[in-house]
Amino acid sequence: MGTVDEAWQESLFTNGHFHRPSAGGTIPVRDKASAEIFAVAGLATEADVELAVAAARTAQPAWSERTYAERAAVLRGAAAALADRAKQFRDLIIRETGCIGGKADYEIGAAASELVEAAGLASRATGEVLPSGHAGRFSLSERVPVGLVGAITPWNFPLVLGMRVIAPALALGNAVLLKPSPETPVSGGLAIAALFEDAGLPAGLFQVLPGDVEVGQRLVTHPDIAMIHFTGSTKVGRQIAQTAGGLLKKVSLELGGNNALIILDDADLDQAAMIGAWSSFHYQGQTCITAGRHIVQRGIADAYAAALAARADAISVGNTFTEDVGLGPMINSVQLERAAGMLAEAVSEGAAVIAGGTTDGPYFRPTVVREISRSSRLWTDEIFAPVAPILVVEDDDEAVAVANDTEYGLVNSVLTGDTYRGIRLARRLRAGMVHVNDATPQDEALAPFGGIGQSGLGGRSGGDSNIEEFTERRWLTVTEGPAHYPY
Ligand code: NAD
Repeated sequence: MGTVDEAWQESLFTNGHFHRPSAGGTIPVRDKASAEIFAVAGLATEADVELAVAAARTAQPAWSERTYAERAAVLRGAAAALADRAKQFRDLIIRETGCIGGKADYEIGAAASELVEAAGLASRATGEVLPSGHAGRFSLSERVPVGLVGAITPWNFPLVLGMRVIAPALALGNAVLLKPSPETPVSGGLAIAALFEDAGLPAGLFQVLPGDVEVGQRLVTHPDIAMIHFTGSTKVGRQIAQTAGGLLKKVSLELGGNNALIILDDADLDQAAMIGAWSSFHYQGQTCITAGRHIVQRGIADAYAAALAARADAISVGNTFTEDVGLGPMINSVQLERAAGMLAEAVSEGAAVIAGGTTDGPYFRPTVVREISRSSRLWTDEIFAPVAPILVVEDDDEAVAVANDTEYGLVNSVLTGDTYRGIRLARRLRAGMVHVNDATPQDEALAPFGGIGQSGLGGRSGGDSNIEEFTERRWLTVTEGPAHYPY
């Protein structure tokens, strides 16, 4: 098995087949370090979306009527196929996203967990027998699939962010039409289709439509697609919510963050610096759960800044496919230049760079910044690069006030030697997720992952939250004996 199966080249995946798009457009897939084009995906057109929707409409009712055991077997089969193809996925993810092998391994393990948990979910979409105010009435609330789910995903964790939608949605009897990011159409789309092909999923239930804005917009506006699950930037999420709102379409939005890591003066210094470095630098800071703000109590601030800068300086940066390094290339030059511009702006406003601060081709050195202004874009916006800005606060109250002073609300962490102090403080933080004594990047297949404010809308990903996401409730009554009405 090579890095890219021949069938995927210049292809989409609809109605159970890899095939060329109707108008023959393509998307070059680059190795993010070398810029070599190592694969070519097909570019879906509106006509391809129509064909995929028609196939999904045909296939979905019969799928929802399959037994839960049959649906679960397909999901377990996809997990087995992923294990068989693990090396292929590892190489793909490293090259398509520019990450280290450890991050690719994490994605493969997390995607396998999503499949296995979803297999269990197939039997857990239970309803209720309700008390009824009508004598002789049998009243039920049952779970029914949403129908056709459109999934739009980003490039940073293409396998797992796709799988956390695809697996539970299929388990619960839906069909899924996936539009991966044009940066990662293979590990985020075509390779996933191969897993379900290997597992024997019937045609039409999972389809991959690589493309960019136009394909995404068509999924959002298509009248037969009942729900959009979007993971990506707050800006695009807002546009999707506006369009979907006009159409009264169900949406679930997993968006950006500007997450705080709070370091209290009783925290262990070495642990704090290690957690701080991981929270801001892993995968070049390109995750929604990266720490973009380090809020540090004065008593530990100087020592923490120095320890974090030393860790940043010790990280090697380079081609993650060919070298043993800690960080790889940025996803593209637009992201790199945006972050470098935000850093330069902060410096012009008085911020001091105490580690990194330089770029070289696609590489951005891990960077630590002090004396940051609270109004600087580097502090108020999602950076999406390996930059750790540090702000000093006096006490717990100020730490909470500064952390909550953001329109986002995805995840925060608190580091302290006093666990109860950490819990008290954590419960005052306005975010969908809070961790005490650990890094901001955390995700588990069973945990309710998601944000509030500008970080998300809709439900949560993970565990039984997925039942709320990917089913509707139906009230069903059966009345015994003749009913009586006035006319
Ligand atoms: P993006 O918003 O630019 O794109 C995401 C997806 O939407 C891509 O597939 C893109 O092609 C598509 N798209 C773009 N414009 C569209 C439109 N008008 N209509 C429909 N689809 C459209 O995001 P990105 O740069 O790929 O990813 C980075 C962003 O994703 C960051 O903001 C990050 O915080 C966020 N993210 C959030 C989570 C989460 O779970 N909360 C996870 C990962 C990434």
